[in-house]
Amino acid sequence: MWQILGISDEVETCERCGKTNLKRTVVLTDGEGETYVGTECASRLMGRDSSYINRKAREVQYEADKERERAEWSTIMNAMHYRFLKLNVLMNGERSERRLRLGFEKVISQTGMTAETVIAHLSSRWGEERVAPLKEMC
Ligand SMILES: [Zn+2]
Repeated sequence: MWQILGISDEVETCERCGKTNLKRTVVLTDGEGETYVGTECASRLMGRDSSYINRKAREVQYEADKERERAEWSTIMNAMHYRFLKLNVLMNGERSERRLRLGFEKVISQTGMTAETVIAHLSSRWGEERVAPLKEMC
């Protein structure tokens, strides 16, 4: 029984038939390993048409991305300097660049995420404009 785990933009070769240069592959599991296959092979394996496979794969991937984003956000929230950052970015008009930089660097090092990832999360919550001072620090 095959199940769709998501979509991969990185694997471009179908592990089933060997077709190359695929724009994306569908990630399937049979409960044991994972396999990357083209839409046609996924259809054949699952006994469903390709529009079902495409729709379902997008849905599953969307949920997986949301879940990853939630997890990343809670990691940022848990980073000690979250409050400090928020205070500086959101509330304190006279923020000190140096303290802001230090806080930001600590969030980066504690979460292990890239500056871009942290900024993307913060801007989706707080708005691009407010996060602008952090962008200049990258
Ligand atoms: Zn194939």
